[in-house]
Amino acid sequence: MNEPLSLGAQADAAAKSLEHKVVAWRRDFHQHPELSNREVRTSNVVADHLRKLGLPVQTGVAHTGVVGLLDSGRPGPVIALRADMDALPVAEEVDVPFASKQRATFNGQDVGVMHACGHDCHVAILMGVAELLAGLKTRLAGKVKFIFQPAEEGPPAGEEGGAALMIRQGVLENPKPDVIFGLHVFAGVEAGMIAYRPGPAMASSDRIKVTVTGRQTHGALPWRGVDPIVISSQIVLGLQTIISRQVDVSLEPAVVSIGAIKGGIRDNIIPDTVEMLGTVRTFNEEMRRDIHERIRNTVELIAKSAGASAQVHFDNAYPVTVNDVPLTERMVPTLKRIAGTEKVFVGQKITGYEDFSYYQQKVPGFFYFVGITPPGTDRRQCAPNHSPRFYVDESALALGVRSLAHLTLDYMASPAAPG
Ligand SMILES: [Zn+2]
Ligand SMILES: [Zn+2]
Repeated sequence: MNEPLSLGAQADAAAKSLEHKVVAWRRDFHQHPELSNREVRTSNVVADHLRKLGLPVQTGVAHTGVVGLLDSGRPGPVIALRADMDALPVAEEVDVPFASKQRATFNGQDVGVMHACGHDCHVAILMGVAELLAGLKTRLAGKVKFIFQPAEEGPPAGEEGGAALMIRQGVLENPKPDVIFGLHVFAGVEAGMIAYRPGPAMASSDRIKVTVTGRQTHGALPWRGVDPIVISSQIVLGLQTIISRQVDVSLEPAVVSIGAIKGGIRDNIIPDTVEMLGTVRTFNEEMRRDIHERIRNTVELIAKSAGASAQVHFDNAYPVTVNDVPLTERMVPTLKRIAGTEKVFVGQKITGYEDFSYYQQKVPGFFYFVGITPPGTDRRQCAPNHSPRFYVDESALALGVRSLAHLTLDYMASPAAPG
């Protein structure tokens, strides 16, 4: 037998013997979820684990991030593997013995906290991969950087965090990774299956904040003021024509949604201002810039036409998650080998965002989706990620471990190929 094959078999055996630990870690994290930038307990558990494996460990990166480095001592590529650690302000409704009863303060409100996006799985999987690869250290060539990242769901208001902050704090330096791999557990895909997509896979996301300023007046005397409520209504409709009439949606889909509109206090007062919040999703950075420009024009010119003024502000920005095409083509055979060819498929584009995109702007990256829905479940019935009923079939965890481990081993075995 040739070397990589027997190494792979060794990896599979290790994954199998680690499976019960990974499940136990996942349940522990599930029971103790922490909001973005507050992953204190989680990162302590992670750091202790990596230290026990003998890895040098950096803590406090981008607040609570943890980075471990496995150095084989032999020359070879540097491969980064990333897991996100934060939970969501969601009150769990799943009936499992390790359900979360945790509460915390979010935006000034008392909320339930739940790993409703499955980041508990990601942390447990990457801890398992670290243990697996550390056990194979004498057979590796190169280095593996384990990145445990806070605040993927976005830092609390007024704070920075997530992948962008980790990068600014040097997570992609010393050593600089040649490639980065990451996975997400995904509801609606059956456990045992893996979905991926070359090129743009998840959307860019920008929050839009619009302030329309008119002039307050009596509701019975609208001509004595400038009504920002009617103008805002026109703006909402005008914004809907950007995607439906102005953008070439045959290239890529895009979404503009207004999710909040606030103005006024009673029936017979036309207020001074109205505020609106919304979101923009695109799969192409050029379209993204173009749509921003069109939003500005639409908002400002409609307001102007009625004698009001309006300001548009974009924030909470996340770039498109773009899988490097040569790297994806190169690594997909690995996924097919370990999961079974018929279990690996090209998934739909996802209009959700993922801050893994920031790493991919710096190094070629591959991000894929591991199914966690119990086989046989009606896809349309299963609760999506972020739902209080988000449920994980834990048989998927072992495939998560094996996939990241094998991607790492295979990349190490032939790093010279394009990627
Ligand atoms: Zn999420
Ligand atoms: Zn997520």
